[in-house]
Amino acid sequence: MSRNKIDGGTGLICLLGNPVTKSFSPQIQNIISSVMNVNLIYLNFEIEHNQLSKAIEGLRALKVKGFNVTIPYKEKIIELLDEISPEAKEIGAVNTVKMEDGKLIGYNTDWLGYYEAKLTCTGKGFEGDSVLILGAGGAAKAIAICCLKNNCANIMIYNRTIEKAEELVNNLMKNYSGRVNFCSIDILNHVISHSTLIINTTSAGNYSNVNLMPIGEEVPFKKGQIFSEIIYNPSETKLMKLAQSKGAFCFNGFEMLLQQAIKSWEIWCNKKIELDKIEEIRSLIKETWTF
Ligand code: NAP
Repeated sequence: MSRNKIDGGTGLICLLGNPVTKSFSPQIQNIISSVMNVNLIYLNFEIEHNQLSKAIEGLRALKVKGFNVTIPYKEKIIELLDEISPEAKEIGAVNTVKMEDGKLIGYNTDWLGYYEAKLTCTGKGFEGDSVLILGAGGAAKAIAICCLKNNCANIMIYNRTIEKAEELVNNLMKNYSGRVNFCSIDILNHVISHSTLIINTTSAGNYSNVNLMPIGEEVPFKKGQIFSEIIYNPSETKLMKLAQSKGAFCFNGFEMLLQQAIKSWEIWCNKKIELDKIEEIRSLIKETWTF
């Protein structure tokens, strides 16, 4: 890999969020641009809550190639953009913005990233899957739409705050009625034992609270099931270790993180990254991974 030199022609892409210091996007995106030999640099910007629209005006004036958006601005950004893709509109969140002829166009690559991650890690898509999603936040919505668009049989949604799960189910029912249901704590273990794919989209168990689990320890995971984390730090959560010990096939959130970044880069650069390059990018990122 030849490291790109910064010179007069270097373009800027960036991440807007708050906080952003723990984000791995700069490592990933700068490796992608190096491997693809494109003269770009990627930086994180921590934006104060009342400064988002000013930041966007600044980026417009600077004619940046594009940017990512993360917590807490994935929804708020929408009103500041000129257009958004149909998928981002359906999900109600934008994580990737491209500047095109002076217009800011919003996309969502989380759902595409999850699709590629599932395919890469398990060798199959979602056809016929009975899915249980733990969590009802932004990532849960993108992943639910990913599963539904890719022909899963049905989805159950379980969340600590019942109202949020009900709201997500009601939203999804508008386009996918008959395939989405609310999962209460009373039926959780029954649903787990009848699911083929269980996805933890909550932040319980991530680096800031590694001992937490979004559900109790007496869970009937079993052989033949797939358990997917979208947390990538730590590489194995407490819940993932439990699922593994009961024979479920498990994968973590690393591949989703990589694949959503690849999709964002492809949008900014209007260029497909071929499989051999993705492999090179993946192994370079893993070399710099410290956990
Ligand atoms: P979010 O919108 O803030 O949603 C957080 C979800 O986690 C909510 O459902 C919340 O439940 C639940 N939760 C938080 N703490 C919990 C606890 N102690 N016990 C049970 N449930 C708990 O966040 P998000 O954007 O969806 O992100 C969620 C996680 O996914 C984060 O760890 C994030 O880093 C990760 N993520 C990974 C990728 C990737 O590419 N791999 C992409 C996006 C997100 P309540 O509604 O009850 O609060």
